[in-house]
This record gives sequence, structure tokens and C-alpha cells, in this order.
Amino acid sequence: MSEYKNIESALIHGGIYGDEYTKAVNVPIYQTSTYEQNGLGETPKWEYSRTGNPTRAALEALIAELEGGTSGFAFASGMAAITAVLSLFHTGDKILISSNVYGGTFRVLDKIFSNFGIGYSIEDTTNINELEKKITSDVKAILVESPANPLLTVTDLKAVADLAKKHSILSIVDNTFMTPYLQRPIELGVDIVIHSATKYLGGHSDVVAGLVVVNDDELAKKIAFIQNSTGGVLAPFDSFLLIRGIKTLAVRLDRHVENAEKAAYFLKEHKAVKKVYYPGLPDAQGYEINKKQAKNGGVMISFELYENYNIKKFFKSLKLVALAESLGGVESLVCHPATMTHASIPYEIRQKIGITDGLIRLSIGIENIDDILSDIEQAIAESEE
Ligand SMILES: *Cc1c(COP(=O)(O)O)cnc(C)c1O
Repeated sequence: MSEYKNIESALIHGGIYGDEYTKAVNVPIYQTSTYEQNGLGETPKWEYSRTGNPTRAALEALIAELEGGTSGFAFASGMAAITAVLSLFHTGDKILISSNVYGGTFRVLDKIFSNFGIGYSIEDTTNINELEKKITSDVKAILVESPANPLLTVTDLKAVADLAKKHSILSIVDNTFMTPYLQRPIELGVDIVIHSATKYLGGHSDVVAGLVVVNDDELAKKIAFIQNSTGGVLAPFDSFLLIRGIKTLAVRLDRHVENAEKAAYFLKEHKAVKKVYYPGLPDAQGYEINKKQAKNGGVMISFELYENYNIKKFFKSLKLVALAESLGGVESLVCHPATMTHASIPYEIRQKIGITDGLIRLSIGIENIDDILSDIEQAIAESEE
């Protein structure tokens, strides 16, 4: 057993370390669907890999430890994780969601869970007093992201957790943008944490995965039942890739954040840039709250160019920074929320919540920052009309 006090060490030694049979320092990939049983009626520890697999179990123990929860669960994607959590609810229940949630979260509620009579409403979760007024008797949960996608809106997570407790409903936080290295919602009283581990936890744009962490045994039993019943589990090899990715989370994020802070100031001072959204800038919405609940402003930046810059040309002119969905990998990526990540949100709603057609979202990688910034600089110059 390892001894450590800090998360940098937990990232490497946490959960289940190595292999008890061979003393391999890495958890092996247990590429098996089933396990031989000793005899009838003797309940085995491992019986079938949808129910449990040692590689996946090591990852699940690791994420539970990192988030400070009691149990973790690994799924085949972030959306499979979100779907499992939403499967806790029943016909007639309603969920309040923050106005900038991930487009896919909105879509699964709007187009799938609505078929089962589970409702949702989009609320400004930054205003806790207004949010409380929306908690009618059918509301059973509040689901938020902070910073939220793509305007990096900050919600007070402790206030949401307290509000949910007061009304005996669940608080759910999608912590994808921050990871437990920068923000730990369960320590603030949140009931359920969700991750698209496809992003920073995996970190190398080579695996699609989702994680859920809870801090209550009853809730853990329910999620385990849903995970085994609906079956959207993470494969052993992908579980291995995630464990491998998580080991370097601290060093990657330190560089990501250092680069992001430089990029945010670069954009803020640039004459072509109308507005920058980054929770690490002192004049950003929710700066003080973010500072209280997170280690720093994170990595994601959104910005708008003035109207005399052609954004189609801007995207075409980038050479190092790739136009792509997703975020959180070592390489810098850029996307256009209105036509990409948030295209499933109808135009009118997008306008209302501030996802304009001119908005650009940047996921700053860990390349040399001067190379990233000169690429952005030349693309801005190319796009001027
Ligand atoms: C990407 C993402 C998801 C969805 O995760 P997948 O792994 O793509 O299924 C959910 N929430 C946030 C905040 C995301 O960025």
C-alpha cells in the first residue's frame, strides 16, 4: 500500500494500484467477458464483465478516491454516464439544468427522456434565489456545469448543493471541464459528479469514456443496478487507457492552465477581439466564486471577434490549432459551438443563452504557447475584411 497526502500522488497510486497476482505496477487489462465459478451457489467476486471487471474496477476505485466519493462507475462515454444518472428519475419528475449545459445533455433530455415523461427546464443557475423559486414539487434534481459550456459561466456549487439538500432533491455536477485536480464538487456537498473522461482525464484524444461518482451507499446501489441493467459499461482496454491518462493529469493540467492564462490575456488585449470568456480573468462573470471552489480558471476559453473579421476564414487559416469537436487533449483544438457542439440546441434558445454565431471556443493544448499564439495571430490577420 502506498502512503500519500496529495492528489498528485493519488493520481498515480490511488484506487487499486498494480496487480495483486503478479505485482505488476500497472493494472493489467483483464480482457475477459466471464470468470470460472467454484461451485453452484457460491457467489463469486467476479462473474460477468458487464457486472464487474477488475480493470474497470480499478478505474472506478481511482475516480471515487480522486473526487472524494464512496463509489465510482465507468461508462462507454460521457453520454452513457449522463444517461445512467438520468435513469434514476421517473415519469413526472423534472430536472433543472443550467443554461449552458453540454449540447448532448440537452438533447438526451429533450429528445429521449421526454418520451418517458421526465421533464427539464433551462435555468440561470448563477442566480440561486431565482433558482430556488423554480423548485416545484415535481423537481427532483438540479444538474449544472461550472464553468459551463461554452460561455464558461460559473455557478456556485456549494450554494446549489445546499439548495438541493434544503429541498431534499439531488444535486448533479458535470465536472468534465475542471477534473478533480482543479475542482471537487463532492467536497462542496454535491450528490453526484459526472465526467466525460474523453476530455482531460483521458487527455490524449484517444478514448471515449464516462465516469460517475457518488458519496452515498444507497445512491451507489442504484447507479450500480442501472449500470448493470442498461449495460453501457467501459471496456477493459479503454479502462486501462484512462488509468494511464489520469496518472499524468496534474502535470498536463499545470501546463494546460499556464498556456490558457497566457492565451486569455493575449486575446483580451487583441484589437480584433470583442469579448473573452475565461473564469481566470479577474473581470469574468463568477471570478470570485470560481476562485473559492476551484484551483484556477481551468483551460477552456471562448471569445468573439469583431464583425469585420470573417470567422469562416479564421477557422480555415489555422494551421497548428485543429478545427474539431471535443477538448481536453494535449493538442490545441478550436470549435464553433453554434454549428458544432451546441447545434442540437434550437437557434432561438441559442440566442437567448448567448451562444452567438460569432462565438469561438478554444481548448488550449500543451504545445509551446508561442506557437499556439502565433497561429491564432496569423489566422486573425487572414480573416480581417
Ligand atoms: C463531451 C462532453 C460530454 C459528453 O461526453 P462524451 O464522452 O462525448 O459522450 C458531456 N459533458 C461535457 C461537459 C462534455 O464536454
